[in-house]
Amino acid sequence: MEKLRFLTPDKAREARDAFGTPAYIYDEATLTAQAQAALNFPNAFGLTVRYAMKASPNAAILQLFQKLGLHIDASSLYEVERALRAGFSPGKIVLSTQELGKGFAEYLKKGVHINACSLDQLRRIGEALPGNEIGLRFNPGVGSGGNNRTNVGGPSSSFGIWHEKKKEVHQIVEQYSLKAIRVHTHIGSGSDPAIWSKVALMSLEVVREFSDVHTLDLGGGYKVGRMSHEPSTDLQAIGQPVKEAFENFAKESGRQIHLEIEPGTFLLANACALLTTVQDATDTGPDGYNFLKLDGGMTELLRPSLYGAQHPIITLPEDPEAPPTDYIVCGHCCESGDILTPAPDQPEVLQPRTLARASIGDPCVIEGAGAYCAAMPAKNYNSFPEAAEILLRQDGNLQLIRKRQTLDQILQNEVAPE
Ligand SMILES: *Cc1c(COP(=O)(O)O)cnc(C)c1O
Repeated sequence: MEKLRFLTPDKAREARDAFGTPAYIYDEATLTAQAQAALNFPNAFGLTVRYAMKASPNAAILQLFQKLGLHIDASSLYEVERALRAGFSPGKIVLSTQELGKGFAEYLKKGVHINACSLDQLRRIGEALPGNEIGLRFNPGVGSGGNNRTNVGGPSSSFGIWHEKKKEVHQIVEQYSLKAIRVHTHIGSGSDPAIWSKVALMSLEVVREFSDVHTLDLGGGYKVGRMSHEPSTDLQAIGQPVKEAFENFAKESGRQIHLEIEPGTFLLANACALLTTVQDATDTGPDGYNFLKLDGGMTELLRPSLYGAQHPIITLPEDPEAPPTDYIVCGHCCESGDILTPAPDQPEVLQPRTLARASIGDPCVIEGAGAYCAAMPAKNYNSFPEAAEILLRQDGNLQLIRKRQTLDQILQNEVAPE
């Protein structure tokens, strides 16, 4: 059975009594330790760590990372605006986006950086701001994501400019006198040093063809084990061959390239737990299943329903000797896919989990809820309000960082027809 990571049963009850459930509880100590590990990524000629803020964009988290010296990877103009409002200066923000929104030129004029992620984006940036500095996001032709929904490199991924289109890129760059200073490749979640080494080498070959480029951004995708049996990326192990590749490149080309990385998952995944309450229990007879129903679900944590992601689940019964019991854990939505215990990578398949036997009213903690959870919910389905977010400070204090939504807030943009 899985264990609590940073909470204790008493802290969980304290949080429930103070803020209600469901609530996300972020751990300042874990966030800080992960940021420091990222800042220690091996590098030859300097390093910038950008937080991929789409993982969890709450201002309290942005400000914590800002204090620790991280910069920002934004994935939309809305995220750029959010980072600015949280206090980041424009020069610390790089936008890499699937949809280049209309107001982008205003932000670039303020000093926000951009990675062109398609030939059309490159043209539009050139037309709006000829002569501007620019980054180029390439799809280097390989990926390492776990499945088709998390893979972001290779021929089945639309992210970035396909690596064989460099000639077109050169034409557009020249046409608008753009100055390409950064190459960006982000290929998805992986922990294999051999893949990272290969991507670094392929990416440096792209750098070689653009003489103004002084920075290579290798993106994020540092896989983190949420379940205790799953491995996590060792940044020192994957960074070492990357560092050597940069050193060798400097020897042959005379160019000392600055390294950037953009972790999201690595910083956040295990830095947050979703605190819920068991609100019902039922079974489908001796040949069926025991079900525990929580007061949260896909409205807070969509990853299990979306890709069969595995998250540790810990029930906290009053009786510490409660016997182990096999459960299917369900969310509160009227949607049969709202299941927190799918089989790995198979959201359609139920897989019972052995948990301490729980009763209605007991707290239930879902671990690994920091990355792509509060940020990527089935928001307001069944009209459930968005959950509260809490920060567990290093001194043990629990602080509210986002209030629970109200029904009035859910309804506020509805307009009655004439
Ligand atoms: C999402 C994203 C990241 C972060 O990915 P993780 O897997 O969460 O580390 C980094 N860079 C870009 C461009 C992204 O889109």
